[in-house]
Amino acid sequence: MEDCLFCKIVSGEIPGEVVHTTERTVAFRDINAQAPTHVLVVPKAHHANAAELAAADPQASAELVLTAAAVATAEGYDDYRLVYNTGAGAGQSVFHTHLHVLAGRPLTWPPG
Ligand code: C5P
Repeated sequence: MEDCLFCKIVSGEIPGEVVHTTERTVAFRDINAQAPTHVLVVPKAHHANAAELAAADPQASAELVLTAAAVATAEGYDDYRLVYNTGAGAGQSVFHTHLHVLAGRPLTWPPG
């Protein structure tokens, strides 16, 4: 999709620190890391949020979670947090589905 930042990272038009790729996903480090490991896992295809991805391509939706788990394992963590922000009011700022993988520090609840 034109003018989508994460589509451009997926295509390589904009550089990203990619740590893992699968058939349907790309995982890259968040530029504003909120934990020692903060990786974003995105589908290669453009979908605005997690629910839209799940409705359009359930297999890609599952692959996102499996990729996130693989990233956490590769970085040495059994404990990690997965987050989808959906909607600006919930903190979503990029409207291309992305699953945050956070690990490496104590993660408290409730989140802010
Ligand atoms: O859930 P939300 O939409 O707020 O997450 C977007 C994330 O994308 C932010 O954590 C932000 O730091 C990250 N980002 C990035 N590279 C960019 C722009 C934003 O990693 N070029």
